[in-house]
Amino acid sequence: MQPWRLDQLNYGKVKSTPHYSVAVLPLGATEPHNLHLPYGTDTFQVDVIAERACSLAHEQGARVLLLPAIPYGTETNQMKFPLAMNLNPSTLARVITDLVDSLAAHGILRCVLLNGHGGNDLKWVLRELHRATPVRLFLCNWYKVASDVYATIFQEKDDHAGEMETSMGLAHFPDLVALQDADAGAIKPSRFEAVNRGWVEITRPWHLLTTNSGSGDPRAATAAKGETLTTLVASRIGNFLSELARSPLDETFPFQSL
Ligand SMILES: [Zn+2]
Repeated sequence: MQPWRLDQLNYGKVKSTPHYSVAVLPLGATEPHNLHLPYGTDTFQVDVIAERACSLAHEQGARVLLLPAIPYGTETNQMKFPLAMNLNPSTLARVITDLVDSLAAHGILRCVLLNGHGGNDLKWVLRELHRATPVRLFLCNWYKVASDVYATIFQEKDDHAGEMETSMGLAHFPDLVALQDADAGAIKPSRFEAVNRGWVEITRPWHLLTTNSGSGDPRAATAAKGETLTTLVASRIGNFLSELARSPLDETFPFQSL
């Protein structure tokens, strides 16, 4: 039993454990990932990152609690692919709100949303809850945590099911990766320069953007690259959890005191 994993804890243990200081809520998705990665990819990945980060924070003495991951995310733009399972942004926000409410009821006043799915738009949920809950909320999109060193690990840009995600699969759930079946993950540019250059944003209709739902070439993926990324990201997030758990919720939180 990992004493920081709620799904493994029993009431006997909870009853005798000193209060938890920070909760981590992982968010995944259920959606296609090119022809070679499983529908659970985002959830499997965020689970590994969350587990490693919480384990590290626990070793550092932080009273951290890992909540079970939400395995569904926003898929409105993926629905032309079979079996993509959608939660609208407002539905997901309601689920998060109720869980944050539960944390508040149990006196856990620090919570990190650990997101593993690019389609989950969550910053607005923090804004909306800012005055509505005593819980201090943080958002971490784990796949952005190592963007400063991304190019030293990977050759190709990854948007969805490319080299990075495939490397994570090879490192953590290799039996579910069929790399020989993958296509090259080519994507179509928009007809609008303003969209291609990011001056104007859209929700991309994924079946028109991609050939088989992949965006990014997965063929240079290796398990070693996935492990390197995991170690770095987990240590960065783990250290943050550790600092957060110890940080008093005083008047200047989350800023430095004067
Ligand atoms: Zn993914």
